[in-house]
Amino acid sequence: MKIGLIDIDSKIPNLALMKISAYFKTQGNQIKMTSPLFADQFDEIFASKIFNYTEKPILPDRTIVGGSGYSLDAKLDEDMENLMPDYSLYNCDYAMGFTSRGCNRNCPFCIVPEKEGKWQAVCDIYQFWNGQNHLKLLDNSLNTDENFFIAIVSQMIKEKIEIDFSQGLDIRYLTDKQAFYLKQVKLWKRIHFAWDLMGTEKAVRRGVKILTKYKLNWQSTFYVLIGFNTTPEEDLYRIETLRNLKVNSFVMPFDKFDRYQKNFARWVNRKAIFENVKWQDYNRSIKNEKLQRM
Ligand code: SF4
Repeated sequence: MKIGLIDIDSKIPNLALMKISAYFKTQGNQIKMTSPLFADQFDEIFASKIFNYTEKPILPDRTIVGGSGYSLDAKLDEDMENLMPDYSLYNCDYAMGFTSRGCNRNCPFCIVPEKEGKWQAVCDIYQFWNGQNHLKLLDNSLNTDENFFIAIVSQMIKEKIEIDFSQGLDIRYLTDKQAFYLKQVKLWKRIHFAWDLMGTEKAVRRGVKILTKYKLNWQSTFYVLIGFNTTPEEDLYRIETLRNLKVNSFVMPFDKFDRYQKNFARWVNRKAIFENVKWQDYNRSIKNEKLQRM
């Protein structure tokens, strides 16, 4: 059977498609990545769409669709879900996968709790890692459970894999013990945390203290969501607090088209500007520039 796989909008190799590919290849089928234009050439078509803001292409009715861009309920069958992904589909030279799913928090801007439910352990790294030097971990909140976190991180340390905790770790759960193990991990990318809501300041300060104790503050970046339910004053307060705590910050605008959010993100995220120009001066210079252009 000829099976066509359509990746509509992924920014990284699509894990679900790589698992579907692995499943059908073991049954002797021919697998090919394709586009909606050529869908008619295949006996079966699977399409995956991750984001809900991208356009839905026109697909034959028989297409089996999945991904959060179509539905929060669509899930792979268990026998597909547990397979080693077919990394050859994207010539992907690193491993990727989830060792846990879900999240126990309930951030109002996030679909994870609705999509995946409460935090639950699902597997260890050996289910999707087969010797690659790098591993992109997709867990939403790996350090929710300390024992599980240490078990997974110990596997990474033992195998000397360079790790990208791509969805970040939760600063509110961070403990001394977790930081002790984290310090031994070979990092592929900086460790991400978040300070999205004003109410979590105390937990952020406590967590940064632990990071600093283990000299992990230099390897950490805090994502700071703006434009959701904080004021510009609160945004500046969080950024300057993180600066004083000696951790890097990266602004995530809730609305990328909002002028203030766009400018504030540009100021923080361009480090040469951030280090040398105050927000008030940067903001004033933008306004003056606009006046001159009028
Ligand atoms: S902690 Fe992260 S994964 Fe959990 S609900 Fe909040 S944003 Fe989503």
